[in-house]
Parts: sequence; structure tokens; C-alpha cells
Amino acid sequence: MSLIVMKFGGTSVEDPAAIGRTAAIVAGRVALGKQPVVVVSAMAKVTDQLLHAAAASEKGDRVVALAISAQLRARHHQTASELVKNPAEATELTEFINQKFDSLDEVLRGLAAILELTPRISDLIVSYGERLSSRIVASAFNELGIHSAHVDARDVIITDSQFQKAVPQDALIEARAAQTLRPLTDQGKVPVMGGFIASNEAGITTTLGRGGSDFTGALVGGALTAEAIEIWTDVDGIMTTDPRVCPDALRVKTISFEEAAELAYFGAKVLHPATILPAVKKNIPVLVLNSRNASCEGTRIISLAPHCKSPFKSIAVKKKLSIIDVVASRMLMTHGYMKDIFTIFDKHKCAVDMVSTSEVSVSLTVDSNDKLPAIAADLGKLADVKYESQKALVCLVGEDIRGQNGMAAQVFNAIRHINVRMISQGASEINMSFMIDESDADEAVRSLHAAFFIDPDPAIFDVDARKK
Ligand code: ADP
Ligand code: ASP
Ligand code: MG
Repeated sequence: MSLIVMKFGGTSVEDPAAIGRTAAIVAGRVALGKQPVVVVSAMAKVTDQLLHAAAASEKGDRVVALAISAQLRARHHQTASELVKNPAEATELTEFINQKFDSLDEVLRGLAAILELTPRISDLIVSYGERLSSRIVASAFNELGIHSAHVDARDVIITDSQFQKAVPQDALIEARAAQTLRPLTDQGKVPVMGGFIASNEAGITTTLGRGGSDFTGALVGGALTAEAIEIWTDVDGIMTTDPRVCPDALRVKTISFEEAAELAYFGAKVLHPATILPAVKKNIPVLVLNSRNASCEGTRIISLAPHCKSPFKSIAVKKKLSIIDVVASRMLMTHGYMKDIFTIFDKHKCAVDMVSTSEVSVSLTVDSNDKLPAIAADLGKLADVKYESQKALVCLVGEDIRGQNGMAAQVFNAIRHINVRMISQGASEINMSFMIDESDADEAVRSLHAAFFIDPDPAIFDVDARKK
């Protein structure tokens, strides 16, 4: 039977109505003869709230932390009780929810006494979101007639020990998926597991980074060599830009793995940047679909995108970035100079997004973070350093930028009223990106969108939506 992985994001499991829609979508696939494996995020906003609780505890604010937990406990009970009526299952589920919140409260109390939030404890605290949502969804599916079984994702997704951004161990995941998931699918059961959460080989809870449930979906799809990986979210698919910024955004019908990866990396939140890799390895198509509009065909991500008449497929924005300027006034760029600069970023485990160099200076962009002063202090030993935050990177992606004349002129003409700080093209042949002030980002996206998507290619973009 053809196995598919269906990943549902936070909004697709945010309340009883959303979980009901999700169940109907899964039942629809079963009716078509598919064998789904379901991966769910925490209910919408739960991860943020757990992080707030953790932050409050770390400050010693036990009362606030426990109040957040109590609110979450009530929300999960409410959802469970509306969905699960079978008395035995309802009792078991209530007990499960209480046990989880009792142990979360213990962690929060401990943290308020220790006053130190390590990445490891943070991962443990946020893991409750997916542990709870997946358990509730599994029970709801059974109640609604889908024969399903809850699986703790930490038994399947094995990672290294880099808490908050753990790296999956493919061979171990494949073995665990064969041991844990395969016997269930062989019986025709639908396994339901949480995304985002994982564990290291010693069984300590880790996570794959924010938005990581998409990545879980792809890892499971890769491990089981699924026929397709479906990412169900709250928009019709990958759009020409974030529809929250630009309501005119159109659905992209088909996009290549390479283009989708570039978009995700440069800030299109609709897909976690690492999602594509496991799919590429086994050439498994990824579909991005809308759980609130299930009949829409969504976006299909495949290895080779068909030719498109428009140069760009989509525009992504990554905000909350900083620019670091390193000026070698004391020491002109010498052999090994760049290596020394990158060694410092490496030491602080800080990824660099974009680099631009001149004879005496290097500008780099990084995620704004609390390590910046320490990085700047280390770089200051090599050269003069200054950094500025509240920057945004705008990235235009499309296979057909390759070899088109005058593309840069058209792009910068469209945003001629905006001050551009850094430009990059050529690192990848399919993207053109530039850095501006964060406060100009939305306006830049709308101007670019208006310039490049006036007459979109109907073979690639859903132009019918615009006519309606
Ligand atoms: P989920 O919880 O389902 O994983 P996310 O909030 O992580 O959902 O991602 C979906 C959101 O991504 C959309 O609501 C949309 O605002 C945002 N987004 C950003 N860029 C794009 C894009 N190019 N296409 C579609 N959605 C985008
Ligand atoms: N719940 C996690 C987050 O909010 C993972 C996810 O939703 O993909 O980041
Ligand atoms: Mg997401």
C-alpha cells in the first residue's frame, strides 16, 4: 500500500474544530487507499507559551510560569474532552494530560529555584507541546473512526546532543522507524507522532529547532521511503510571497527542491529549511497543502521544475538580522585573514547568511542574537568592528534568473526608493538577495511583487485566484 507522511502544523490542530478537519483529511486519504503516518505540531502558540513559562521561571517568577502552565492544562483538557467521548479513553487521556502537566510544573518549579535555563532544559520544557498534541490527536482519530496509534517521536527521531538545533542521525532513525512505525502501518494503523521533538542516543529530549515539525515529517518520509510527504498548513501552498505581507500573493503550483530550499532558508516560514533534504535524497515529492481549504491542490515540490516565463517564483524575507562590518585598517587583508574571521563565528556557533568583501573590509550578516557583543569583541582583536541590528534580507528565487540580462536593474529599479546595504547574487544561481533596514522590508516586498508578478505565467502560478 502506498505510504504517505502527513504533517499538520499548529493551526491544523489548534482546537477541536481544527483537529476534526485534520481527521477528515486523513480519513479522506485512507479512503483513497493510502497508508498515512501522521506528524503533528503542538497546538498553535503552545511552543511560544512554554518558552514564556520557561523564561519566567528562569527569572524566579514561579507564579507567572505556573499560571501559564495552568492555562495550557485547561486548554488541553478542554480540547480533549470535546473530542473524546469514549469513557475509558477519555479517562486515560485526562490522566495522561494531568501527568504531563504535573511533571512540567515540577520542572518549572525546579527552574525557578536554580535560575538557570540551559538549552537542554528548554528542549525538555517545549517538548510537552508536541507530546500532548500528538496524544490528543491520536485519541481523537480513534474516536472519529481512524484506526490509529500514538507514537512518542523521541523513540523514532534520534539526534546528536546539540540541544535546540539537534542534528538527526539518519541511519538510527531508519532503524527506529522500521522497529516502531512499520509494524503499525503493516497492521493498517495510522501512527500519530509529534514533530519537532527528538532524543539523543541516551534518551535525553532534544528538538530540531523552531518550525522543526516539517523536518520531522520529511525525516519520517525519508526513513520509510514514502510515496509523498504532505505538509498541511494554513495557506494554500508556497505563495509568491508571504500573504500576510502582500495579500496579492499567488499560489505557486510547482517549484523545484532547490528553489523551495532557497526560499525556506531565506525566511519563507511556510517550510522549515531542512525539510527538503531527506526528500531530495530519495526523490520523494513534497506537497504543501491547506488544511482549511483541503480541495486546493497546493504546491508540489519536485526535483525538476518546469520552465517558467516569469524570472522569479517567490520572494522571501528574513528579519531580525544584523550586519557586522569588519574593517582591516590595522592589517590589510592578508593570507588567512578570512579564515581567522570565520573561525571566530565558528567558535561562537554563529551561522553567517551573506558575505561581501572589498580590499580592506568584510561585511557579514548573521541572525541578531545575544552572542553579538562577544563575537564583536573577538573580531576586534583582528580589526575594527561595528555592527547594526534590525536588518532584513530580501531574497528573490527562481530558476530562470540564470542567464537573464538586466535582472538586477529591474530589481533595484523596483525598490529605488529604498536604501540597500548589501547585495548578493551568484552564490546560488537561483537567488538574488539584498539587505535593507527591517522597517523597509514589507514595503520592498510589496514593490517587488507588484513589479514582477503583474503578468504571471498561468502554468506555474494560480492566476485564477486573482480573477475571483
Ligand atoms: P505551520 O504551523 O503550519 O507550520 P507556519 O506558520 O510555520 O505554519 O507557516 C505558514 C505561514 O508561513 C503562513 O501563514 C504564511 O504567513 C507564512 N509564509 C511566509 N512566506 C510564505 C510563502 N512564500 N508562502 C506561503 N506562506 C508563507
Ligand atoms: N511547535 C514547534 C514550533 O512552534 C515546531 C513546529 O511547529 O514546527 O516551533
Ligand atoms: Mg511551520
